[in-house]
Amino acid sequence: MDVPDTTRASAREADDADALSRFRDRFSVPGTYMDGNSLGPLSEESEAALDRVVDQWREHAVEGWTEADPDWFHYGERLGTKVAPLVGARDDEVVVTGSTTVNIHTLVGTFLDMASEPGAPPEERGTVLVDDLDFPTDHYAIRAQLRQRGLDPDDHLTVVESRDGRTIDEADVEAALETEDVDVLFLPSVLYRSGQLLDIGRLTEAAHANGAYAGFDLAHSVGVVPHDLSDHGVDFAVWCHYKYLNAGPGAVAGLYCNESHVGATPALAGWWGHEKATQFEMHHIFTPAQSAGAFQIGTVPVLAAAPLDGALDIHHEAGIEAIREKSIALTEYLVALVDELPNAFAVGSPRDPVHRGGHVAVEHPEAYRLTQALKDEGCVVDFRPPNVVRVAPAPLYTGFEDVFDVAETLRDLHETRAYEAYEPKSGGVT
Ligand SMILES: *Cc1c(COP(=O)(O)O)cnc(C)c1O
Repeated sequence: MDVPDTTRASAREADDADALSRFRDRFSVPGTYMDGNSLGPLSEESEAALDRVVDQWREHAVEGWTEADPDWFHYGERLGTKVAPLVGARDDEVVVTGSTTVNIHTLVGTFLDMASEPGAPPEERGTVLVDDLDFPTDHYAIRAQLRQRGLDPDDHLTVVESRDGRTIDEADVEAALETEDVDVLFLPSVLYRSGQLLDIGRLTEAAHANGAYAGFDLAHSVGVVPHDLSDHGVDFAVWCHYKYLNAGPGAVAGLYCNESHVGATPALAGWWGHEKATQFEMHHIFTPAQSAGAFQIGTVPVLAAAPLDGALDIHHEAGIEAIREKSIALTEYLVALVDELPNAFAVGSPRDPVHRGGHVAVEHPEAYRLTQALKDEGCVVDFRPPNVVRVAPAPLYTGFEDVFDVAETLRDLHETRAYEAYEPKSGGVT
């Protein structure tokens, strides 16, 4: 896909030639929306899928668990099968369940248990490898899981440090795997601030070569970058559906567990992860489902999962390869436009699209106030401390001219200093 030159006319031409532009009308997009990596917008398909479940509830009440079409009893498994191609997994390796944070708890906990002998003293147990640019919830959950096993997180968390404050060098991860006694590697696919896309195949190979399990948080890549989890032999992964998959605020999340680990005992077990055929025999001893479904905990929140059903129809119709191709063209274009802005602006994302996910970090000393001012100009972006305006041109409802508009608005706000009318940042919700 061609990247337009830095004129508005060229951006319009690129939009006219874009086969994905027809999807935009299916979404309710508020203004120039570049925040779909935080919360994707509502689509007609998602609304219809939610309405369908509400109608089934009205009509069937409790019988909906078996009589609704599709039935609710297998809702998490069925949607897991539908998400599986987006992460490159086999049908049984994915289930739609929980939240990203809860899924980190259960999967990191499970793999920590699998890595060490029951009852082994702390000094004989290994560590979890993470990096210092991670999204905070991942560390909170992992530290809690270590503590629950009597392990001091300060001794049992190996943190790979960034060299430049923006990215993680895969070679540094490999070096840490060789020198530290790591049980579980757990890294993001795409870093939430800089948008760096890590090499999952390479990192998984390095983990396995050093006797560690490899797990990934795909929150910022699922739905915008294709994956090959099964082919790479990744052990486990988690992600949410409310970002590039547009399934709505707090939508039920997803997880993957490689089929070679079927039968593992989940760290956080619950009856919804029990073998389906005997779940209602109500035994007190847990028999895990022979699939990723074993990692479900309680009853599937059908209302919070339904919009994903519709959202996935759109994703499959568009095709993840075409989505990625357009995403690369959009971010290439954005990088080129930011390069033309005054010197106070800098690109904080990798320049090679092979190493970049779906968003671009635009750095500026006044990033916080610029973000506020952009919103009042109808451009929704978000601020990530200390100096990043995060701009995510999601391919299904964003065009090249939108990207042009964001860059021009940034230029205007900088040159007129209009952002000075906004309060500087002081704690609280950003
Ligand atoms: C968005 C995001 C989360 C969100 O976790 P929730 O449990 O859905 O609140 C977790 N990890 C990463 C890396 C994220 O980007």
